[in-house]
Amino acid sequence: MANRKIRIALAGNPNSGKTSIFNALTGAHQKVGNYPGVTVEKRVGFGSYNGYDIEFVDLPGTYSLNAYSTDEKVARDYLIDFKPDVVINIVDSGNLERNLYLTTQLLELECDIIIDLNMWDEAQRMGIHIDRAKLSRLLGAPTVTTIGHRGSGVRDLLQAAVDLVENKHQDHRHAPVSYGSHIDDLVVDLTKNIEKCKSCGMCPSRRWLAVKLLEGDIQTESKFIKDSSELDKLQKSIRKKVRHVKRATGEDPDVILTDGRYGYISGIMKEVVSHKIGDRMKQSRQIDAVLTHRLLGYPIFLFLIWLIFQATFVLGSYPMEWIEAGVAVLSNAADSVIPDGFINDLIVDGAIAGCGAVLVFLPNIMILFLGIAALEDSGYMARAAFLMDRLMHALGLHGKSFIPMIMGFGCNVPAIMATRTLESERDRIMTILLIPLMSCSARLAVYVLFAGAFFGAMAGNVIFGIYLLGIAAAVGIAQILRKTLFRQEVAPFVMELPPYRIPTIKSVFMHMWERASIYLKKIGGIILVASVVIWLMGYFPKPDNYSQDFDSKIENLQTQLETRAISQAEQQRIDNEISELKTTKSSEEIQKSYIGKIGKGIVPVIEPLGFDWKLGVSLITGFVAKEIVISTMGVLYQIGEGADGESQGLTDALKAPENNISPLKSLAFLVFVLLYTPCVGTIIAIKREAGLKIMILSVVYQMILAWSMAFVFYQGGKLLGFN
Ligand code: GDP
Ligand code: MG
Repeated sequence: MANRKIRIALAGNPNSGKTSIFNALTGAHQKVGNYPGVTVEKRVGFGSYNGYDIEFVDLPGTYSLNAYSTDEKVARDYLIDFKPDVVINIVDSGNLERNLYLTTQLLELECDIIIDLNMWDEAQRMGIHIDRAKLSRLLGAPTVTTIGHRGSGVRDLLQAAVDLVENKHQDHRHAPVSYGSHIDDLVVDLTKNIEKCKSCGMCPSRRWLAVKLLEGDIQTESKFIKDSSELDKLQKSIRKKVRHVKRATGEDPDVILTDGRYGYISGIMKEVVSHKIGDRMKQSRQIDAVLTHRLLGYPIFLFLIWLIFQATFVLGSYPMEWIEAGVAVLSNAADSVIPDGFINDLIVDGAIAGCGAVLVFLPNIMILFLGIAALEDSGYMARAAFLMDRLMHALGLHGKSFIPMIMGFGCNVPAIMATRTLESERDRIMTILLIPLMSCSARLAVYVLFAGAFFGAMAGNVIFGIYLLGIAAAVGIAQILRKTLFRQEVAPFVMELPPYRIPTIKSVFMHMWERASIYLKKIGGIILVASVVIWLMGYFPKPDNYSQDFDSKIENLQTQLETRAISQAEQQRIDNEISELKTTKSSEEIQKSYIGKIGKGIVPVIEPLGFDWKLGVSLITGFVAKEIVISTMGVLYQIGEGADGESQGLTDALKAPENNISPLKSLAFLVFVLLYTPCVGTIIAIKREAGLKIMILSVVYQMILAWSMAFVFYQGGKLLGFN
């Protein structure tokens, strides 16, 4: 017999452990797509249990279904339009009160829900006792306890879902949420009116529709009531009811409804929850007294971030050397195995040099992400947002924008997508415009390379300074934006402060590994292709004539080496002469190649910044992605071989006197890399999230900013006597 198919949606607040549960339910059987029409990520997974084929959907994490933010709208539309057979409502047991808000809304939509009391381990540890049987009875929904990150309780969840589908669960009913007497009567009345409305048939629940209409939810109104004469009739009766509520209570119905929900939840809490040990948030509050202190908070925050960057550089330098050595071994091996000629050059100087140069920075990126993941999982990041709220207001933004911006330090693309948690469009667009100034981990690789080459022991501080410069630029740009394009006021909001939690090693490492694998995939994909293309563009066309006859000169010297008996010193001299000839030859070749021509073409634009054509070409290719700045350099600078015939590391190549890169020039270069458009991925993300105009604005302002700041640094530095 064929398996029956059912569809289960996972709904819950952000950080309730939804993704952990989803992973435990589906294992590796997942695919990631988008919800129709928006860029909200849609995770779908598959599993089977007891003769059922189950499709699981991980809905976006939301605190409610009010459809103020894109996430909420997506979650709500999914529930309404796709009517999953079961909705697993994942709640953080240690935070039941706040989590139940969403639950009330799911109940109202008449979804068949299972309450998954996740983070059961934490609730236990905090001495919170939840009377599950009573909670089930009150909400009319089965409850299951789970510990998401360990996957425990997941079978119970599946069993409960199957029971629910087979309608065996004794507690199952659609318990109406009560809003108190003022509203309840009106809702019943309005529900009756809606029953008469013929075009309202699509709606999942008439009572829910009545509540939404009373709240004045225009989206819902236009979604479900298509017939305009019926809409008129309903609106008349709604207006009467709204007036009535206002007269009786002095408040708008939506306020009374929200109050009603909270009241309902408080009631449930009183019935089912008891604390064994004091106040569960007490510990967190004590920690908060220090970490979010009005004065101490800021230096602590700066110190933590500084620590992460320092670790990124200092700890990262060891594995970096190992990888560098590994790449050199590989490169030499490939060089000796593959016969000399085009293919050898393509693989050794193109593919391996380009990808190797980028691979070296993998440890730095992993350490940075380890740090960010630890801050996020511990709950500190939310405090940082809280702390930053005042500063962000000075920018014309609020603390909520801080999280996407901090995420930008990892990668701008998800950061731009994360702005959809912001309710106000103005805040969202402004944040999107500022995120590219948050220096992402791809840029970090360039900083590590140059700071390591030119600033020795100061490298960590230089990198920290570059990050600060990005933030300062964001402050400046924000000021300009709010005086020109975004003059409205900042919308107020409540900041959620989750309890502190010791981050689990598994989750932190998973975040880190996710990042690392994205980086590795990039190396195997776009960076490999770009390296080879850049190398080819540097290889062709071959010059028609050279300034001297290199080939015969080299051959001549080589025969001397082989045929004559010569002294050690003599041999050394000839070796050096050969490698010098080779370098001069390849430098002549590359200057006449396509890439050389492009580079020369842009020299007038970048000369005032102290960049030569090689740096210029790297910046152009860096438009695709910042790692490609490095792989381009890997190809451009390593085309010549070191005096010993071994391929030399990129760091040494940059420092070589003939390349004429000074610390000041390298600093100006880093400033440019920091400030100009991060990558094609970011550009695309901006276009999708904010439209073409904002995308163009973003690219243009960043080019201007990057050029002028690099100019100020280079010319200013020269005036001050640096070089
Ligand atoms: P989401 O935002 O709802 O998708 O939540 P995640 O699945 O990403 O989980 C957030 C954090 O909580 C991660 O660090 C998880 O490892 C952790 N976590 C998830 N479930 C549990 C649980 O049952 N107990 C504890 N102590 N931690 C959990
Ligand atoms: Mg998640």
